Amino acid sequence: MVHETPAMRTGGTAEQRGGWLARISRLFRTRPTIQPDRVLIAMLTEAIALPGCPVCRLLAERELRGLESILWEQVTDPDTHRALLAARGFCFIHSWALIPAGDHVFSHHGVAILLQRILVDLLQTVKIGGVTAARRWLTPRTPCPACIWEAQRESTLLTALAWIAMHEPELVVSEPALLCQPHAHLLAITLERIAPAQAARWRSLLDILATRYAHHHRSLDSEQQLALRVGRRPPYLPRQAEYCPWCQAEREYLSKGTAWLCDRARAWTTYLDAPQLVAQLLLEEDQAWPEAVALPMETSNHSAEPRCLGHLRQALTQPDADHVLDETVAAFEELAERAQRFIASSDYRFRGHLTDEERRSWRDLIAVFGGETPGVSLHDARVS
Ligand SMILES: [Zn+2]
Ligand SMILES: [Zn+2]
Ligand SMILES: [Zn+2]
Repeated sequence: MVHETPAMRTGGTAEQRGGWLARISRLFRTRPTIQPDRVLIAMLTEAIALPGCPVCRLLAERELRGLESILWEQVTDPDTHRALLAARGFCFIHSWALIPAGDHVFSHHGVAILLQRILVDLLQTVKIGGVTAARRWLTPRTPCPACIWEAQRESTLLTALAWIAMHEPELVVSEPALLCQPHAHLLAITLERIAPAQAARWRSLLDILATRYAHHHRSLDSEQQLALRVGRRPPYLPRQAEYCPWCQAEREYLSKGTAWLCDRARAWTTYLDAPQLVAQLLLEEDQAWPEAVALPMETSNHSAEPRCLGHLRQALTQPDADHVLDETVAAFEELAERAQRFIASSDYRFRGHLTDEERRSWRDLIAVFGGETPGVSLHDARVS
């Protein structure tokens, strides 16, 4: 027996719709083994009625909420500080997502409070333990907390979507929605886990999606095509490297290779810097993109300071680690002081004027923790 779902109620039965959708429905329909939340099913069904990837759409709607709630009410909470300290802040995407999250809750001071405290912890650690302690500190003990929330939500959404696919497979492949390729791949994995006996059928479902990708390929603009290939655009991307000269050099190199193909943040950053190059590649590579290759480490000749935490970690493996650490610590102490003045200015008793550098300190802190090029933050794995 197939249970009635909100999806069915909104769209009528597959047989009523007729045509190829009905044939797909009969082919794929199977018994449910899970019962996800009805509200979630309803939300997904609504998202399926809109263009774009429904999973990306629902993830994007909630993407900033966790960060906003931290900035709104937890910036001085000791548990939040401990958790963020263990993670050494957020990954590239979620460090920069603090900008729109901070805008929404009017709390750039909150961003400064969160990150400055972690930076001060590093400075204290280095004072006691030098390079060895710094190297140890620069290895996060836990993943980016926002990535954990997002992975949990993504898994819940995909499980619910798999449930819809088992009841009404035609919905998962019907217009105007179109699952992005990463989520189509993850849906197939989820379906094979939930109903392994139907594996061949789930692969056929992917084939139908592949036909739709090919059909839509040239009708979408390059931004839509990229979203289809790698998933949604991150909430915020820095337009250029302003704080770390190593990030600047690496970012200029990013669009020259193909390493940017390997993940969402790199792909969208490259699109920001070189939209025509990406558009051209999207047109040329109809079915498969070239293999991603590693970025060579060409940044070791720079002597300018300061640098982000990811580039500091790389530099501390070099023979002149003591010298690099001294220089970077001096830059971080200066930044921590600027941020402290900026934080103090949120107090109504504050008198005096902030310099432009002090006003910008919260952004420089983000650049220190997230890096300004995807792949260099402490949480980002380099392409290998
Ligand atoms: Zn998606
Ligand atoms: Zn993250
Ligand atoms: Zn950097």
